[in-house]
Amino acid sequence: MKNKSSGVASAALVGRFAPSPTGPLHFGSMVAALGSCLSVRARGGRWLLRIEDVDAPRSVPGAADGILRTLEAYGFAWDGEVIWQTRRTAAYQAAFARLEAAGMLFGCACTRREMADSSLARDGTRRYPGTCRAGLPVGREARAWRLRVPAGGVRFEDGVQGLIEEDVAADVGDFVLLRADGLFAYQLAVVVDDAEAGVSEVVRGADLLDSTARQIVVQRLLGYPTPAYAHLPVATNAAGEKLSKQTLARSIENQEPAGVLVDALDFLGQGPPGGLAESGLAAVWQWALANWSMQRVPRQRLAPASAYG
Ligand code: GLU
Repeated sequence: MKNKSSGVASAALVGRFAPSPTGPLHFGSMVAALGSCLSVRARGGRWLLRIEDVDAPRSVPGAADGILRTLEAYGFAWDGEVIWQTRRTAAYQAAFARLEAAGMLFGCACTRREMADSSLARDGTRRYPGTCRAGLPVGREARAWRLRVPAGGVRFEDGVQGLIEEDVAADVGDFVLLRADGLFAYQLAVVVDDAEAGVSEVVRGADLLDSTARQIVVQRLLGYPTPAYAHLPVATNAAGEKLSKQTLARSIENQEPAGVLVDALDFLGQGPPGGLAESGLAAVWQWALANWSMQRVPRQRLAPASAYG
């Protein structure tokens, strides 16, 4: 029986790993898989797996199966069925229709070439200049659909990177939710997927940090709760350059899973004891679950020598 005086039940703890099937898992994605999994599992939460194949032209045939096999070989076990974005078009369509009905979308006729001449945002990247915001130019047709980004900043406390503030309207401008090729954009898909799966925390690589404010904007407009965020360090070389997927992908292919997991634990600042890798995969998982601490994860980290390929 429900105890009426207990108020709201504590929200379920749900994390996820959401690889794009663009190639084999590399050291950086193994770090994201491990960090997202340990963070929830160490506290008895659920961990979901979603294949982010919404950008179908970028999917590499066989890559998704390879990712699933690799995760299994490393001892990962996810809850429930794998979620495939290519099977979720109706959910994206419904969210899109809600935004459209609320007047939050507009058609945009601008081509890439036209955009190349557009104004630059503060960080030097391209910002949408608002060309079609007030209506399509005469004689032009909508190619893509953009979100009418409300003015004002987004603030969130990241579990690893600290307080993050971004003014999406000023820095990015109105961004695309339905692409010119007819596919829904990652920024919409990820928000709808996380919300519908009840994801309460997003743990992923810091290379995705600059997408987060955009995703929070979409969550708010759709009335979804904002999950907790923790952006893990991204592997860099000694010069601080991000290591390419190709380099890292090669490097984990022929290695022992236990050794790679221990390297990933070390990368995440967990301080695995010497000799742990030699104790086998089950022992690595046992140690990792018993000792996981998000507080120990550094903001930035050099890649281990073994990850250089
Ligand atoms: N699919 C993205 C990637 O592989 C991750 C997206 C996310 O975790 O939100 O980089």
